[in-house]
Amino acid sequence: MSNVIAFKKPKKARKSNTMCQQGHHKWDIVQEKQFDVKQGKLVTLYQCRYCKKRKTLLQ
Ligand SMILES: [Zn+2]
Repeated sequence: MSNVIAFKKPKKARKSNTMCQQGHHKWDIVQEKQFDVKQGKLVTLYQCRYCKKRKTLLQ
């Protein structure tokens, strides 16, 4: 039964935060080509899967 302990969780969160602090975010598309009323243009919304920072990209 002691074999169960061998399965260790990698410390991904800490490593990712370091990456984010260096500006290397892991961007996932939240919403593609939505209409941004403020800019009057289509934008794609991204969110970093680690630190949840968001950015938009003009189409
Ligand atoms: Zn990030």
